[in-house]
Amino acid sequence: MAIKNKSLSNAKIISRSEHHISRKNIDPRAIKVLYRLKSCGYDAYLVGGCVRDLLLGHSPKDFDIVTNAKPEEIKKIFRNCRLIGRRFRLAHIIFGKNEFIEVATFRSHYADDNNQDNLTQHGLVIRDNVYGTIEEDAWRRDFTINALYYNIADFSIVDFMEGVKDLHNKQLRIIGQAKKRYQEDPVRMIRAIRIASKLNMEITPDTAAPIKKMVELLYQISSSRLFDEVIKLFHTGHASQAFPALRKYDLFAILFPDTEAYLTSEEGGHFINMLEKAFVETDLRVNLDKSVSPAFLFALLLWPAIEREINHLQKTKNIPPMTALAQAVRTVLHNQNKITAIPRRLSASIHEIWYLQYRLIKKQEKTIYRCLNNSRFRAGFDLLALRALVTPDLQDSVDWWALFQTSNSKQREQLIEEQNQKKSK
Ligand code: ATP
Ligand code: MG
Repeated sequence: MAIKNKSLSNAKIISRSEHHISRKNIDPRAIKVLYRLKSCGYDAYLVGGCVRDLLLGHSPKDFDIVTNAKPEEIKKIFRNCRLIGRRFRLAHIIFGKNEFIEVATFRSHYADDNNQDNLTQHGLVIRDNVYGTIEEDAWRRDFTINALYYNIADFSIVDFMEGVKDLHNKQLRIIGQAKKRYQEDPVRMIRAIRIASKLNMEITPDTAAPIKKMVELLYQISSSRLFDEVIKLFHTGHASQAFPALRKYDLFAILFPDTEAYLTSEEGGHFINMLEKAFVETDLRVNLDKSVSPAFLFALLLWPAIEREINHLQKTKNIPPMTALAQAVRTVLHNQNKITAIPRRLSASIHEIWYLQYRLIKKQEKTIYRCLNNSRFRAGFDLLALRALVTPDLQDSVDWWALFQTSNSKQREQLIEEQNQKKSK
């Protein structure tokens, strides 16, 4: 029988014998931190996505811990502890370079209606560093399935929100009133799509209903946070599900307006197919633990925007293709940067991938080896191959480069020669 203390009186307790989470599946470093907190007299729980994923039999990406110990108290217990964050202090227990377990103190439900000081006029939370009870902590989490706690004291699951039932029925349900929760933090709309896509869940009607009307609240979110969210949407193995869902809820139009404008036009509609095929490949790579590149992702997601801009420039001004490309690149990156901050190093790579589109088709003798030795050649070639799926004229160039890559130097000379002859004809 699970121990039930007063702070848990409103929770459903699922005892060790009623669930399948075993300590074997938990990161030993997290176990160590949990036991240490417990031995010092504090409550300690695993919380959030890791409990959800463990219950589903998946292996969690990260293990988050919550406790009633205050940050300063946590710091006293662990030698390898660093406190971070200003708005809300968190402890990182360091286990090596770039490896740490995050420990947070229970937070209270800040956004009660009397506490307008903490909200902007749009209802966005700006100050919330108030510690609270485990129950208050549960209320401030986003979805019921993300508000489950694994108690190290007796290995039970603590569930205030019927999260286990929703998990079982594959229902993604926001905690509290959806409209209010999206006002507090509009990123929750993106998280709904991401988590439902990842876990193949249905977003409950109440959770889904306000999204389309509220998507513009995302303009309040910093462009660097949105960049991180885009990477999580498309690089965690379920881009194929996330892409149509983002479009269905009008979120894709907020994140990639220039691309969406072309996808919904008569000329650009076929690019939906290209993106869908690309995401199937991306998911495969992620699920095989192969590397994926943010530069390629953005070059791909924004390629329809580039084509749209080039079309527009060529219709309105009579300029050569290379000049049109250069102008389109500038415009598209400038617009996109306002929404999702693209790190400078990445912009340079995206540039390269796009310019390669032009050079790979041209196949000018003097640039052939420069293309092949370009560090972004592979990405450029992959994008060209994807484009050929919807623009069959490009297939010749894809085949030529595929052959060229695998040829020896003599064969390569011959391929270049043939290419020159073709051009002079
Ligand atoms: P993933 O598997 O992608 O890591 P996750 O649910 O664990 O999914 P995290 O960003 O790691 O996502 O967040 C950990 C937990 O913190 C969530 O499960 C949720 O309880 C809480 N959380 C995260 N972001 C928010 C938010 N914007 N609003 C409320 N609670 C949040
Ligand atoms: Mg997580």
